[in-house]
Amino acid sequence: MKKHHKDERTLVIVKPDGVQRSLIGEVISRYERVGLKLVGLKLVVPTEDRVEQHYTLDPQWRRVTGEKTIKSYKDKGLTPPSEDPLEVTAKILKGLKKYMTSGPVVVMVWEGAHAVKIVRKITGGTEPLTSDVGTIRGDFVLDSYQMADADGRSVRNVIHASGSPEEADAEIAHWFDKNELLKYRLIQDGVLYDVNMDGIFE
Ligand code: GDP
Ligand code: MG
Repeated sequence: MKKHHKDERTLVIVKPDGVQRSLIGEVISRYERVGLKLVGLKLVVPTEDRVEQHYTLDPQWRRVTGEKTIKSYKDKGLTPPSEDPLEVTAKILKGLKKYMTSGPVVVMVWEGAHAVKIVRKITGGTEPLTSDVGTIRGDFVLDSYQMADADGRSVRNVIHASGSPEEADAEIAHWFDKNELLKYRLIQDGVLYDVNMDGIFE
């Protein structure tokens, strides 16, 4: 049977900078208030292996991320650190392992209609310098590719969020056992998803 839209899930990580800046509650409330449901949650210090596996679950990630970074340099009229996407990504991955293991992170699974796209929209674009105002990355960070690359570190952007439903499925399985994810109904689900909004009047 085809899954209903409301059953879509996505993985979110509040990265070490987000935890250090006391943004856990702010982040959770932004996904909560849009109507998404929290179905998994843990506080962990990841190992470097887990971080590398997380970012390379998608065999295309190295190429795509390198190309995205090179393009963002060129769009700003700047020279990228290298013209080879894989070389660019190797550096990014090294930085990510250091960054993501530097302290506790909060790993969460959010469920609801269009969970992946809605979470990406609320989270904002990868580079805080250009992420939209009103998004988490746009509102709470001021980092840039240029500044991070000059210092040889990862862009600190508070959040990881899955990029597609397929990426989400792989990432959720990477961080959670099946029995750590809960299936339950919230009272508000009826208002969000039921065909008839019954039961309001006594
Ligand atoms: P996301 O899906 O928006 O998080 O972005 P990506 O999957 O493309 O990249 C993963 C993470 O690597 C980002 O969230 C950043 O922390 C970091 N990152 C990505 N691109 C760059 C870059 O060009 N330079 C640096 N220093 N870090 C980057
Ligand atoms: Mg990504």
